Amino acid sequence: MDTLWDKKEFLMIAGPCSVESEEQIVGIARAVKAAGAHMLRGGAFKPRTSPYDFQGLKEEGIRLLLEAKRESGLPVVTEITGVRELDLFEDVDVIQIGSRNMQNYELLKEVGRTGKPVLLKRGMAATLREFLLSAEYILAEGNPHVILCERGIRTFDDYTRNTLDLAVIPLLRGMTDLPVIADPSHGTGIASLVPPMALAAAAAGADGLMIEVHNHPEQALTDGEQAVTPEEYAALAQKVQAVRKAAGII
Ligand code: PEP
Ligand code: MN
Repeated sequence: MDTLWDKKEFLMIAGPCSVESEEQIVGIARAVKAAGAHMLRGGAFKPRTSPYDFQGLKEEGIRLLLEAKRESGLPVVTEITGVRELDLFEDVDVIQIGSRNMQNYELLKEVGRTGKPVLLKRGMAATLREFLLSAEYILAEGNPHVILCERGIRTFDDYTRNTLDLAVIPLLRGMTDLPVIADPSHGTGIASLVPPMALAAAAAGADGLMIEVHNHPEQALTDGEQAVTPEEYAALAQKVQAVRKAAGII
């Protein structure tokens, strides 16, 4: 991972919730790269609450994501939902383990064995100890390349989709050397809340941000209500370093 990302640099991952078409993913890849993103995200295998909702383009989605990687030069992050998909992930740079699979221990062991960087999202009902022990499943396979991602937890409040637990960012800093990033998109579920919570995460000492960006949020097949536009993303990206400076982090 050292060649993929130097931890001293603030990691900006951006892209749509789902890969939808070549035009969509290549267009967004170019736009987020121009805004300063280091990696492109895009789901091909989507773990949806309802089995009748769009499940992702699967193999074709991975192919389109790799096309966007070639076109933009950005490394790619995408979610794996089961061990049977692993062969398709050969050219994927970072494997995402989603919230719903944080405690899928067989999957954690399997991605650990690949030696590839793994972006591990906190389970929506996972304690910090459970989160760290899930990371341990990957590390125990001899794979040190784990990125922890706080993506919000379920609380009694249904005003937001999840409650972004920002306190874990400085807390984890004192408990582990692993990079810790925040996902304010799933952490709030509301596009207008993404920029302020992204900056709050940066001020709290996050090592990076994963943000959902869509060129036409109102037409997105998944998570459109929490997607920011490339223009909004660019405006946010401009402010991140100033906030880190003001907070005395850099
Ligand atoms: C995602 O990143 O699109 C996703 C499904 O996230 P989570 O696993 O955090 O819900
Ligand atoms: Mn999403």
